[in-house]
Amino acid sequence: MCGIIGIIGDPLASQLAYFGLYALQHRGQEACGIVSFTTGEDGDLSSHKGFGLVNDVFKEDTLKKLPGDLAIGHVRYATQGGHSAYNIQPFLFRSAKFGSITIAHNGNLTNAKELRQELEEKGSIFTSTSDSEVILHLIARTKVDTLEECLKEVSKRIYGAYSIVLATQKKLYGIRDPFGFRPLVFGRRGKAFILASESCALDLLDAEYLRDVRPGELLSINCENFSSTSLPRETTPRYCAFEPIYFSRPDSLLEKETVYTYRKAMGKALAQEEKLDVDVVIAVPDSGVPAAIGYAEASGLPLELGLVRNHYVGRTFIEPTQAIRDFRVKLKLNPVSSVLKNKSVVVIDDSIVRGTTSRKIIRLLRDAGAKEIHLRISSPPIAYSCHYGVSTPTRDNLLAAQNKLPAMADILGVDTLKFLSLESLKKVLEKGTSTKHCHACFNGLYPEEIFCKIPVAPAD
Ligand code: SF4
Repeated sequence: MCGIIGIIGDPLASQLAYFGLYALQHRGQEACGIVSFTTGEDGDLSSHKGFGLVNDVFKEDTLKKLPGDLAIGHVRYATQGGHSAYNIQPFLFRSAKFGSITIAHNGNLTNAKELRQELEEKGSIFTSTSDSEVILHLIARTKVDTLEECLKEVSKRIYGAYSIVLATQKKLYGIRDPFGFRPLVFGRRGKAFILASESCALDLLDAEYLRDVRPGELLSINCENFSSTSLPRETTPRYCAFEPIYFSRPDSLLEKETVYTYRKAMGKALAQEEKLDVDVVIAVPDSGVPAAIGYAEASGLPLELGLVRNHYVGRTFIEPTQAIRDFRVKLKLNPVSSVLKNKSVVVIDDSIVRGTTSRKIIRLLRDAGAKEIHLRISSPPIAYSCHYGVSTPTRDNLLAAQNKLPAMADILGVDTLKFLSLESLKKVLEKGTSTKHCHACFNGLYPEEIFCKIPVAPAD
């Protein structure tokens, strides 16, 4: 996962990008960067990038060194390419035909390995191990007259997930892959245009949300206006189901609906799938909270604050020894014993990947005196890896890929365990519309071939 932002037409573009990246910080905490320049001038592009949170990487003096009315920014969560400084985006390069180009990418190209091999055989020299750099090399090698045509040609060669902001010294471009796996929104702030991974960045900047960039759309934006064109590969959109379940911020809009609304509806649907006789509902904060509110509302059970999250924990650099191995989870979460002691509780969380954190949380709740623990997950079991930009482990390390439900409950140490059914999830996300989502991490049916011989979902 990553977060991207692009702004054109404001003399404070880099400062707006900086604040926008704060709003997108939940999409990537490993590294971040901003590139800025003045449109119409063929001068140098200014760039500042580094490892860490936005607050660690950017200071007042660094922002002063990022002038211009166009800026693009990126927060990185490494899914492809490893943890090298060379992989921190936005990337910059100079093309003989189009001048300076900078790019920030959210997603994962599923044929990056093959393309890279082909490009290297033809003489391309890569500076990073990121799949995003492949796009730049394809741009450099495509022989057409305009950058719009070039981007369309490049889109014929790349597969997988890509929401992209790309800028030249004339224009800002927004590109979303034909499946629309990752979100990208388009907004306006005064005369400036803004592209961002999520609408929460527009909210922070007091910008107006105009619309989502459509799957398969290429937006070309200058300081005065914008134009839209379609990429050549057409297909049925498949939005990532995990954006509303976990990744996107609850206040962001996905297809004009807040993520909070989706999550609450998932909790409601979970409660409607069973009747549970317990004392209290608690959430695993923060992403489990909206579903817990929905679950409590639908079940009529009281919702209490059973776990408190410490929001001030940065990254911890000390590997805990065996003796203090539980400190790491306690740094982030602490149980409220008065809510839990001698109570039967239903605990709502959004998802289980490996199960390691869930097992530790359950142990915390038991130690705090919970009498019965019923774990309810507001999404179906994750049994397959994601190849579209979400960092999930291989199937060997996915709890639900290796175990049946009773075994999972034993491993986690809960009295009962239940997941939201895929049918209910689809109803919540699609709400009677024809909108389709990718559910491949639940059912293994990937929307397109990803060059590693996996089953492909039948066409609708
Ligand atoms: S496989 Fe799962 S996480 Fe990946 S795009 Fe599809 S729904 Fe999202």
